[in-house]
Amino acid sequence: MGHKTFDRGIHPAYYKELTAAKKVEQAALPKTVIIPLQQHAGAACAPLVKKGDAVQEGQKIADVQAFVSAPIHSSINGKVKDIELASHPGGTRVMSIVIEGDGTTREWKAEGSADLNAITPDMLREIIREAGIVGMGGAAFPTSVKLAPPKGKAIDTILLNGCECEPFLTADHRIMLEEPEKVVWGLKALMKATGAANGIIGIEENKPDAIEALKKAIGGGNIKLVILEAKYPQGAEKMLIKAGLGRKVPPGKLPLDVGVVVNNVGTAAAIYDAVVYKKPLIERIVTISGNGVREPRNLRVRIGTSFEEVLNQCGGLNGTGETEVLNGGPMMGIAQSTLAVPVIKGTSGITVISAASIKSNNYDPCIKCASCVSACPMGLMPYRLGDYGKAAMTADFKAWDALSCIECGCCSYVCPAKRPLLQWIRLGKYRLRKEAQKAAAK
Ligand code: SF4
Ligand code: SF4
Repeated sequence: MGHKTFDRGIHPAYYKELTAAKKVEQAALPKTVIIPLQQHAGAACAPLVKKGDAVQEGQKIADVQAFVSAPIHSSINGKVKDIELASHPGGTRVMSIVIEGDGTTREWKAEGSADLNAITPDMLREIIREAGIVGMGGAAFPTSVKLAPPKGKAIDTILLNGCECEPFLTADHRIMLEEPEKVVWGLKALMKATGAANGIIGIEENKPDAIEALKKAIGGGNIKLVILEAKYPQGAEKMLIKAGLGRKVPPGKLPLDVGVVVNNVGTAAAIYDAVVYKKPLIERIVTISGNGVREPRNLRVRIGTSFEEVLNQCGGLNGTGETEVLNGGPMMGIAQSTLAVPVIKGTSGITVISAASIKSNNYDPCIKCASCVSACPMGLMPYRLGDYGKAAMTADFKAWDALSCIECGCCSYVCPAKRPLLQWIRLGKYRLRKEAQKAAAK
């Protein structure tokens, strides 16, 4: 019998072999870091430091009172050089704290307790908030917010996402293989913080070594490993909940409406570091891969290190001519116009696509083949949404349920006419947001 999965979706070429067997290595200490004040879903932080201030590795340098937000910490020892607008891997310019390093590092020791019986749920939520922990699969939603459901919504299951279904990326694979005990401990901490009785780790069948490592770390008890078919986008929250638990999140609702909180395996490991090492989220594992980089690697990179510096530690770009550098994987990643952008909390990978593999901007008329409809995991009509998004027909766009689109890119991937459907859908959503903001300002 095949492994569990969801309806529709696609089987792209994964190219995981480029880095799957490569151990995580520590990236070089950057001389300068650029730390954006917005690295998470929700409100941007305000600086707690000013130009000229000395800062320590791990020191909180920005925060905000808003409920949906996460504080930001310095990833190096040094001095604040400036607070200025700087390029952000999300494609905008964002106020950022620029820190010049002094070349020293801090040694993190296990000063906290690993005994979960000694920590209350309130303490856990507070530690997770103060450590600035966000979803590390890419969405960067503040984790402490997910752990505080509104009254009347009970969480019975924490579902850890170890699917890593994006092609090229293997950072989560390596965490599960190299630090399975941290992942399982983090899952137990999340269960304690929410009162959830069950813990599940969802992992795709194409990571057999990580499956074995997790099985050993779990041992027994109320934590289960669920092995899923390798299919894209298996790691999307709604798909994972359907495949792993058989529950369907209704349109417009959240996982907590069906009693579930989903977190990434990297987030669980970061929670261990926050509680036991009292270490905030100041670095993360990044997969640097693709046919456009000389030496694909998995590196533990300090937040704020520039893409350029990271790529240089991977032998630099491969060959000549046009190259596409993406923040993330090729399905959902955002193309960068400069390598001066920093690695942020949600940067799971840097994918570099060489000239020969870059998709052309030319596309043909729709031939009504319905391949996009067959691929869409949300059961939408992508060809219509693409047209409405492109033509600024916002009422029709909304009426055809555009807001249920999870921006997985399956539709663009399968389209034989090479129509950039996801790009048009994102444009349509951007217009809807602008309209809503205008209406709210009236
Ligand atoms: S319409 Fe949205 S959810 Fe459906 S395949 Fe396209 S990007 Fe994915
Ligand atoms: S896959 Fe492309 S060509 Fe086929 S129906 Fe969808 S948009 Fe049209």
